[in-house]
Amino acid sequence: MEKETKNKQVSILGVPFEDTNQKDFEALLKKRIDAHQNTFVVTANPEIVMYARHNRLYNQLIHKADYIIADGIGIIIGAKLLKQPLAERITGYDLFVSLLHWGSQTHKSAYFVGAKTDVINKLKQVVAKSYPGLTIAGTHNGYFGDDRNIVNDIARTQPDMVFVATGYPKQEEFIERNRKAADGLWMGIGGSFDVLTGTVKRAPQSWQKMHLEWLYRVVKEPSRIYRLSVLPKYLLEVLKEKWSKK
Ligand code: UDP
Repeated sequence: MEKETKNKQVSILGVPFEDTNQKDFEALLKKRIDAHQNTFVVTANPEIVMYARHNRLYNQLIHKADYIIADGIGIIIGAKLLKQPLAERITGYDLFVSLLHWGSQTHKSAYFVGAKTDVINKLKQVVAKSYPGLTIAGTHNGYFGDDRNIVNDIARTQPDMVFVATGYPKQEEFIERNRKAADGLWMGIGGSFDVLTGTVKRAPQSWQKMHLEWLYRVVKEPSRIYRLSVLPKYLLEVLKEKWSKK
């Protein structure tokens, strides 16, 4: 699909990131949603980049996305190290909340797939209360074997936006398999339903400003520590790429 963007892209370990800021990127997405353009957005962090590096199918799959955005300070640091700085970090969560707000004001509809049953049930209440102008086309928890029922429902309801919050690689695989069901925005947003429902707390603003959101999550959920082990490996690979270009 042709990309309607003049953004420069910055390649980090073979993954092309949009060099844009949240305001411009949101404007671009809203225009595409209004025009019913099928749009697949990947919100990628170093874990995703490293996973793609070692998994050919996933790598091919994310290259089919319309836009890959830098959701993670590690990506911003990697771009700096490569002397191709990206304008700013854009988190999937911030985009999600902003699009819900806009969708409420402009009477759009959204479908939500992901998280545990109690979380998705709570999400329904939170969205209905906080974003009353937005139509909830449907919801489904993120623990399912077969896509069929969910996809039939999405095809029937034709939502403007489909948010898939099942974590990578499942969310991107789901989107790539099924995005033809509705011409709207399809975006993978990890643990965002947990955060919007208050099931998991997002780091306080001060931690976010210091780019320590990742540390906050580990402090709150120590079992995530093993996921950090990918960071030094990622930085080393970025440095190797930098040196190989010299
Ligand atoms: N999840 C899901 N289906 C699965 C595995 C996970 O819906 O098969 C959900 C899980 O309940 C959580 C989210 O996916 O809400 C993953 O959150 P995480 O914070 O791990 O996301 P990431 O850090 O990968 O963005």
